[in-house]
Amino acid sequence: MIKIDYQELILIRLGEIALKGLNRHKFETRLISNLRYRLRDLGIFKIYQDQSRVYIEKRPQDQFDFPTREILQRIKDVFGYVSASPVRRFANDKDLLFTQVESYVAELYADGATHSFKFETRRIDKDFPLNSYQLNCDLGEMVLAAYPEQATVDVHNPDFLFQIEIRQEIYLYHEIQPAYSGLPVGISGTGMLLLSGGIDSPVAGFQMASRGLQLEAIYFHTFPYTGDQAKQKVIDLAARLGDFCGRLPLHIVDFTDIQLELNQKVPAEMLTVIMRRMMMRIADRLAEKNKINCLITGESLGQVASQTVAALRCTNSVVDRPVFRPLIGIDKNDTIKLAREIDTYDISILPYEDCCTIFVAKHPKINPNLVDCEQAEQDLVIEFLVEQGLNKIETIVV
Ligand code: ATP
Ligand code: MG
Repeated sequence: MIKIDYQELILIRLGEIALKGLNRHKFETRLISNLRYRLRDLGIFKIYQDQSRVYIEKRPQDQFDFPTREILQRIKDVFGYVSASPVRRFANDKDLLFTQVESYVAELYADGATHSFKFETRRIDKDFPLNSYQLNCDLGEMVLAAYPEQATVDVHNPDFLFQIEIRQEIYLYHEIQPAYSGLPVGISGTGMLLLSGGIDSPVAGFQMASRGLQLEAIYFHTFPYTGDQAKQKVIDLAARLGDFCGRLPLHIVDFTDIQLELNQKVPAEMLTVIMRRMMMRIADRLAEKNKINCLITGESLGQVASQTVAALRCTNSVVDRPVFRPLIGIDKNDTIKLAREIDTYDISILPYEDCCTIFVAKHPKINPNLVDCEQAEQDLVIEFLVEQGLNKIETIVV
């Protein structure tokens, strides 16, 4: 009887990343360091790249059990690869291959239910004594003989597609966990996300992180009009976003004095858009200071009065960085769907109001223009207010 000896590892397939030509090495290195960061409290693993794939495995010196399931769960949140599979690897030996497949399949048929299957072999090592076709047939027959009541062959849509790769060692797997794809966070630089406690801005942050942007977040807090619970909600959202994009500094601006000043000096119908302009100016200045080249918001065209084209032009005109609004053409229902999928929805809908809902005019001007804005701001000392905001920032790293 041959000893059943195999090593568990995780195989990660690179998609778009593999196409990046000369930058490819940079992308792979970044992906590997992001994976390492995401797994940091599970242990130190050997993570390496080989032929358009990345592998995660136990270091030879480590004795603990390889936490396959926990790793798969964690790396769901990492951008920059297409799918992952838990894999068994063992020595390149024909008899061992059959014993390994036998025990692998036994675990899957232990539930007593019927399952269809198919074998797919890639024989990279051409010295292996059986060719792919023979192997698929022989292994298939072995499974049919062992589970005559449960196993059937289905070459088109099998329940289990057993994949075998014969390289220097043999790789066996069947499970494929799809990923979000995108680009590894950090590869595209950094973006400043205007993060409120709402549904949209966390999703906007997720979208841009999936294109490789590292995030910093800025939140305008209007205590006591918005309470500690509202702030905690934003911290919780930032923490969840941090699962996707790693280290995430959250800058909390004490916005109360500025908001009260606006309430006094700005006509009610212009209040929302002027408030948004103040937020954009402060975010832009902080971005300048932290060497960040773009801003991100959760705005969506026409959703509220401050998100008409005219209003967006007013908020855009006070900053010179590009403002990314990944939700601009997205239906609210689709945003909600994504928010649920990425587990930000339940935090976002907690009923603590943000300042925009408290200090909102009954009839905001729908189509403000730049002249309207300048008039509405004529009694404000803008530079003073911006400085005031910048001087009252508390930064938490989640
Ligand atoms: P959200 O669901 O993201 O709050 P919203 O539909 O409520 O968006 P607004 O309140 O008009 O829309 O805000 C538009 C965008 O402005 C938000 O998506 C967010 O990027 C930014 N924003 C609004 N309020 C704040 C705040 N208090 N702090 C930081 N950013 C904010
Ligand atoms: Mg909001």
